[in-house]
Amino acid sequence: MTTQSKSLAYLEQTQDFIRRHIGPNAEQTQAMLNDIGAESVDALINEIVPSDIRLSALPAIEESKTEAQALSDLKAVASLNKVNDTYIGLGYYGTLTPNVILRNVLENPGWYTAYTPYQPEIAQGRLESLLNYQQMCIDLTGLELASASLLDEGTAAAEAMALAKRVSKNKKSNLFFISSDVYPQTIDVVKQRAEMFDFDVIVAPAHEAADHDVFGALLQYPSATGEVTDISELIEKIHANKGIVAVAADIMSLVMLKAPGELGADAVIGSSQRFGVPMGYGGPHAAFFTTSEKYKRSLPGRIIGVSKDTRGNAALRMAMQTREQHIRREKANSNICTAQVLLANMAAFYAVYHGPKGLKIIANRIHRFADILCLGTATKGLTAVHANYFDTLTFNLDNKEEIVARALAAGVNFRTDIDGQISISIDETTTRENIAGLFDILLGEGHGLDVSDLDDKIVSSGHCSIPAALVRESEILTHPVFNSYHSETEMLRYIKRLENKDLALNHSMISLGSCTMKLNATAQMIPVSWPEFANMHPFAPVDQALGYKQMIDELGDWLVELTGYDNISMQPNSGAQGEYAGLIAIVKYHESRGDAHRNICLIPSSAHGTNPASAQMVGMKVVVVACDKEGNVDMNDLRTKASEMADNLACIMITYPSTHGVYETTVAEICNIVHEHGGQVYLDGANMNAQVGVTSPGYIGADVSHLNLHKTFAIPHGGGGPGMGPIGVKAHLAPFLPDHALINVDESTKGNGAVAAAPFGSAGILCISYLYCAMLGKQGVTDATKYAITNANYLAKKLSEHYPLLYAGKNGRVAHECIIDLRPLKATSGITEVDIAKRLIDYGFHAPTMSFPVAGTFMIEPTESESKVELDRFVEAMVSIRDEVRKVESGEWSSDNNPLHNAPHTLADITDTWDRGYSIKEAVFPVPAAAKNKFWPTVNRIDDVYGDRNLICSCPPIESYQD
Ligand SMILES: *Cc1c(COP(=O)(O)O)cnc(C)c1O
Repeated sequence: MTTQSKSLAYLEQTQDFIRRHIGPNAEQTQAMLNDIGAESVDALINEIVPSDIRLSALPAIEESKTEAQALSDLKAVASLNKVNDTYIGLGYYGTLTPNVILRNVLENPGWYTAYTPYQPEIAQGRLESLLNYQQMCIDLTGLELASASLLDEGTAAAEAMALAKRVSKNKKSNLFFISSDVYPQTIDVVKQRAEMFDFDVIVAPAHEAADHDVFGALLQYPSATGEVTDISELIEKIHANKGIVAVAADIMSLVMLKAPGELGADAVIGSSQRFGVPMGYGGPHAAFFTTSEKYKRSLPGRIIGVSKDTRGNAALRMAMQTREQHIRREKANSNICTAQVLLANMAAFYAVYHGPKGLKIIANRIHRFADILCLGTATKGLTAVHANYFDTLTFNLDNKEEIVARALAAGVNFRTDIDGQISISIDETTTRENIAGLFDILLGEGHGLDVSDLDDKIVSSGHCSIPAALVRESEILTHPVFNSYHSETEMLRYIKRLENKDLALNHSMISLGSCTMKLNATAQMIPVSWPEFANMHPFAPVDQALGYKQMIDELGDWLVELTGYDNISMQPNSGAQGEYAGLIAIVKYHESRGDAHRNICLIPSSAHGTNPASAQMVGMKVVVVACDKEGNVDMNDLRTKASEMADNLACIMITYPSTHGVYETTVAEICNIVHEHGGQVYLDGANMNAQVGVTSPGYIGADVSHLNLHKTFAIPHGGGGPGMGPIGVKAHLAPFLPDHALINVDESTKGNGAVAAAPFGSAGILCISYLYCAMLGKQGVTDATKYAITNANYLAKKLSEHYPLLYAGKNGRVAHECIIDLRPLKATSGITEVDIAKRLIDYGFHAPTMSFPVAGTFMIEPTESESKVELDRFVEAMVSIRDEVRKVESGEWSSDNNPLHNAPHTLADITDTWDRGYSIKEAVFPVPAAAKNKFWPTVNRIDDVYGDRNLICSCPPIESYQD
């Protein structure tokens, strides 16, 4: 047949995105269905998804668009944004992302598609970069211990308050003090958190902090209006009252200012955004958190630590991994899971690239421009409010309206939310011309000021607007890594060297159950770097952000349709933050009905650790509901507990399909039971990849859910963040969604507190999920679900011939993931799930989710994006590993000298004396496919216990580099 006889639709097929997103082609699908024993994909879905929750029609979102069309349409939307020169400050600043970092980190799938470093042997690159990040934070803040990023400055401040409560010796106080010159959005987030913890809060001028009996206080340094003051005496006084002091600090100012740690702070938090990470209308950016060694058990978030591998070489890992917050469930310090790894890496690379000298020049230039602006205006009779400042000048104005109008006409934004005042924050992107333009706006044209003349005056007068006592004397960034890669060639190779140590989705499939490591399409990533999106300040006047508004509204409408809810809030910037926001809505809903006493949260034993951790953050009492031996919620236990606790029942948190990878047929009944007893249903949406287009939480009967846009909706995991966790709610919960102190998110939620610093969370990455929906359309998003289920059932079928499948639905089918049980192997051979996870590395694979939700198991989620070829490669590896275990079982290989026990194998192993009971080929090329696409781990198996006993969370000392 010639192409002449084929339809245009046929000829257009290479432009269709659906077939690019979905891994298996028609032939592969048919072969898989044959193996599974199903007629068709639809027949399989009909067998699996319970009919009472099955949607009958495709979701009412748009038809799919080609990549080219979707990008060009979104470009038109983006162009509705008007990106002004911004001097708003308040934690968000213009910054120059070094292009070598932009292209080779932010825009590089080797960095952005990796997962949280749960398998550290194949994550040494990002672990090194995160260690650099921690070292950078330690040096700049002057405290001993740093975590590897938190979500944003506001939530980091809230975490600092929680730390203060835990460690303060002032046990009888329930009062937390917030300086009124803390950023308003931070105050809002901290107050919301305090309300949930039942802490009292006082917001007052900083100097009053010592007048109150507090367990802790939060100060801002420099203050929101820009003032630099010596807070050391104040801190001493608060300490005398046994209060803990957290200081929110600006990272760039710390290059020049005395470190808050040196002034006595117990914890220092802030944002590392202005170290090379675009504003993105509020995020994503990495917040930092440092504290002193003695509070290490209370530090929220992940910490990267130095341990050693089996060869005794230094190797990095997540320190105290089992203390990863949410894993401690309701005993956790915080619910944080997904953090901001990619952005922490960018900030760390920024510090590596500029080094201490470069950073000092950047900070000094910013400061000089502030001096020039200050001196220039003062000469003309307009004097800034504070004499001591770093980059921010505040002016009292009689003619504020006139000046602001002039600024807007010139395409300039100031901070304007305080009556009669404006503030101007200078940043790295500010130029001489910009300063001249600011004089024009502030003083009117014809002022006769000259930037170079003013500069000369400042240099010759030796005037300093930073008090002598607060000028930094301690050195920063003395480690070799910050002093070695200042040419672009060196930097490029350093970034590449680290990238090569990490296994990401651009190498092989990562079947981490519950994490949905699907395709992050390149086209979806492209708009992240468009200036219209990247350079928008979150507090820019809303009429300048109409492109963002349209994109957020449209995406919101689609997500409402796909979830079956009535409203959505885009504010939470991770799944766990979504849980927190959703539970707050439930708390406030009960309060509004005079049911404030409802405080019991039922959680099945199989739940993800963030669920109980979030419940305790809103002051709920967690009651665990049992699961039966099939992994389903034990309905009798649920009925009993729901009715026994009916008077105080607040809600249930369930995951659907359950974390056991099965569509529980009783889900609608679970909702009914809880509703009957006055409770609300929180449905954890992490498994939405098994629901979209096929069923929905709203249809099932739930009241509120978070979506992990970084799972189901294609935002890449970034090595452990960023993410987005918007929540959908039924109408009755909508009045209780988060609001924002500076931006009116929605008239109906006015005055509600905030759960994140920016009104729409990490808005800068919403374009990814937007394009995911636009390019797949109603058919594609539904197909994604169906093929995710098909792929999982194919894997379950193939693997169940070699490993017991732990759970399956009534007809032997699974949902979008499956669990295989490795415990029997341990009994017969001594080989553990850890051995098998590490052995998979030798085959070129990242292990599936290990020991969640059941210890001694793998939970495997292939997603729709993997082709049969890749699934077969994985099956081949798992089958080969089963054969290897058999050799241990039979005694052919000894229990402590076999490739599983010794995995993973490195080049160091095979170039050293080889005295193993198996061959080098068996070790490193166990199947031909492994040889063809070999991934070499750079370290041997890492000693977890050693790393925790000898906690080191900073770069190795200089001396260690000298051999
Ligand atoms: C991933 C996940 C979460 C937490 O989401 P984060 O974005 O990492 O905070 C919660 N519940 C389940 C079931 C998950 O898989």
